[in-house]
Order: sequence, then structure tokens, then C-alpha cells
Amino acid sequence: MNLILLGAPGAGKGTQAEVICDHLHIPTISTGNVLREALKNGTQLGLKAKSFMDSGALVPDDVVIGIIKERLGEDDCKNGFILDGFPRTVPQAEALDEMGVVIDKVIDIEVADEKIMQRLSGRRVCQDCGASYHVDYKPSQTEGVCDKCGGKTVQRKDDHPDTIKDRLHVYHEQTEPLKDYYAKTGKLTIVEGQEEVSDTSALVLKALEA
Ligand code: AMP
Repeated sequence: MNLILLGAPGAGKGTQAEVICDHLHIPTISTGNVLREALKNGTQLGLKAKSFMDSGALVPDDVVIGIIKERLGEDDCKNGFILDGFPRTVPQAEALDEMGVVIDKVIDIEVADEKIMQRLSGRRVCQDCGASYHVDYKPSQTEGVCDKCGGKTVQRKDDHPDTIKDRLHVYHEQTEPLKDYYAKTGKLTIVEGQEEVSDTSALVLKALEA
């Protein structure tokens, strides 16, 4: 199954992608993760993306379209994939169509802006393994230390409150129109994000079966 997860930053797409991945055994492709990895490794791609990412802006379409084109050509995508964080603009969705990629389902996870603000401003991530925590809702056992690998947990630069506001603005302006784009194809299901992650997962898995 070829899936797209839509939703604002912090709506829980990454977490739900993991749940779907366990369920369907298909890989998740997260453009955000690919870009962060490139940044960490100081590659050309990372250098190109850095200023956009730090300010909460979108990386230019041609850059992310290139990443997706290359990644979808790999063998492990032959039986399906989950796109997390792509497409984020109408031109990106059009590029996917032009590549001849057939999408089976689009699941949009809806979470109110105030909730996103709370979630992202308290988020901490392990700089080694990427595990995610929240200072109030899911603190690591020792502050600043990852439970899973002992790495250092930090606040992402783009999780600072002012940048979150910018990212939400960008989401409403550039990404939200994709709801209409995919509603027209009849492939869109909207899932209301719940307080408990497991409740959202139950709705997401139900949407997959529909
Ligand atoms: P994410 O982890 O998905 O929130 O992505 C982090 C940042 O990476 C975003 O704020 C953008 O700067 C960049 N990014 C990720 N995916 C895309 C995309 N599909 N188009 C443009 N920029 C992206």
C-alpha cells in the first residue's frame, strides 16, 4: 500500500508512521529525517537545507522532490511505503503524480494549533538515535539523557516557540491545500488526533482498513 500522512508539524505523523510500519511492514520515508541526517553529516544537501529548516520555512520543492524520486526508486519501496512530511505543497503532490506514483490512501491527522504549540515546544529529541520525549507528557528518566541509547536529548532548533508559529503559518498556507487536492481523488481520510497516542493509532489503523 502506498500511503501519505498529512498533518501539521507535531500532529504525530512520525509516531503513527511507526505504528503503520509495524502493521504493514512497509518503510517510512520522512523528508524531514533525510534532511536532518544530511545536516548532521554536513553534506551538500544539508548545507542547502539548513537555513530553511532553522527558520521553519520549507526547503525548495526541487530539492525534496529529488530526494523522494531517488528514495522511491529503492527496492524496499516496491511493496509500498509511507510518506511522512511529503508532499507539503501542491507542486510536490503534482510531481508525485507526474512520477506515475499511485497513492492508495491519504490520512490527514488533525490537531488544533494550540495543542501543536504545547507538544512541539516541550518536545526533546535524542541527538543520537532520534527518540522523542516531552518535558511534561513523556519525560526521559534522567533529564537530558535518552532512555534508549544514553545519548543527549535536545530541543530541535525549529521547536522554539517563534519558529513553531512560523511552521504553523507555512502549514496553513502551503500544506493545508493538499487536503482539497486529495479529497478530490476520494482517497483522503481525516483522523482527529486524540489525547492518547494509542487512541489515534486505533483510528489510523481503522482508516487503513476502510
Ligand atoms: P519535519 O520533521 O517533517 O517537520 O521537517 C522539518 C523541516 O524539514 C521542515 O520544517 C522543512 O524545513 C523541511 N522539510 C521536510 N519535508 C519537507 C518537504 N516535503 N518540503 C519542504 N521542506 C520540507
